Amino acid sequence: MFDNSETTNISQLGEFGLIDHLTKNVKLYHPGSQKGIGDDAAVLDYTGKKVLVSTDMLLEGIHFDLAYTPLKHLGYKAVQVNLSDICAMNATPAQITVSIGLSSKYTLEAIEELYEGIYLACEKYRVDLVGGDTSSSKQGLVLSVTVLGYADEADIAYRNGAEEGDLICVSGDLGGAYVGLQLLEREKLIYLENPNIQPDLEGKDYIVERQLKPEARQDIVELLKSMGVKPTAMIDVSDGLASEVLHICRQSNKGCNVYEEKIPIDPMTYETAREFNLDPTVCALSGGEDYELLFTVKQADYDKIKNDVDISIIGYVTEPAAGCNLVSKSGGVHELKAQGWNAFKK
Ligand code: ADP
Ligand code: MG
Repeated sequence: MFDNSETTNISQLGEFGLIDHLTKNVKLYHPGSQKGIGDDAAVLDYTGKKVLVSTDMLLEGIHFDLAYTPLKHLGYKAVQVNLSDICAMNATPAQITVSIGLSSKYTLEAIEELYEGIYLACEKYRVDLVGGDTSSSKQGLVLSVTVLGYADEADIAYRNGAEEGDLICVSGDLGGAYVGLQLLEREKLIYLENPNIQPDLEGKDYIVERQLKPEARQDIVELLKSMGVKPTAMIDVSDGLASEVLHICRQSNKGCNVYEEKIPIDPMTYETAREFNLDPTVCALSGGEDYELLFTVKQADYDKIKNDVDISIIGYVTEPAAGCNLVSKSGGVHELKAQGWNAFKK
């Protein structure tokens, strides 16, 4: 079917040939996935559970840059960012659909690489690819993933459930994905000026991975469950800690105190931020794409979580009139602001 050249033009396969090729080895892990790819719709069984749905769209040039994003990583990340949204509801992801728009520059081999990453994420998180759509695109790659998950009604954690006195907690560490992006952007510029210079990312694996290969924190959802802790509110950290804390406080109609010295920042993130003349705290507050979980728990649960190395208690929830505050390392109290990307622009 294929010629002997190294790459294969997608038009040789046609839409149906491409779908068949990409999905012929698909595995289903969930008994609830009764019918996957191959009919007009997938058929799923969620007996007795609530069903959760979330979707995300990624556009080439807006959300990713193929100059430093391997397609396999892109496929993996596109799935992870969706799984993260289901985890942020304290639920379990079970199925995904993947829709792609492809411009003519993409070869079959390139799309195979993308699907390798998608399947890797599915395998690792036991999630089933049960459908999607395939189209041509005039410019660049469009990648849209929808995820379905389930939970018992009593377990679902919304953004609006935080109560006065609750502890504010975050998993893992923050700011690494943003600092990793700075590194990749710098190496891209150096490469564009002189293609003979190879990217110098030595010793920076952790933060490069934080940017290119994020992991949804399903382990934290399971950990909390095993400890008997139900978060009163939860959100995933996609846009930076400040923005996510404010979402919880606004939707719960509460205020907060967050302590700068308690914000978890990895040493490599810290050092590299400094090399870029960036404030590591600002990277954590406004950088985004860390895909950690931010959640609130009742004070009564303090003993259950206090010794877990993967959970940091960074502050507490207050009455709304007190506002949302960041207490700096020197003790100064500042209004917490979601500056997003603007925080970095001078
Ligand atoms: P329809 O014409 O009914 O939209 P398609 O020909 O687009 O059907 O899709 C056929 C089957 O392949 C469906 O089960 C669909 O969900 C699945 N599918 C299509 N594109 C993709 C894709 N990019 N990834 C995974 N499954 C896909
Ligand atoms: Mg279709």
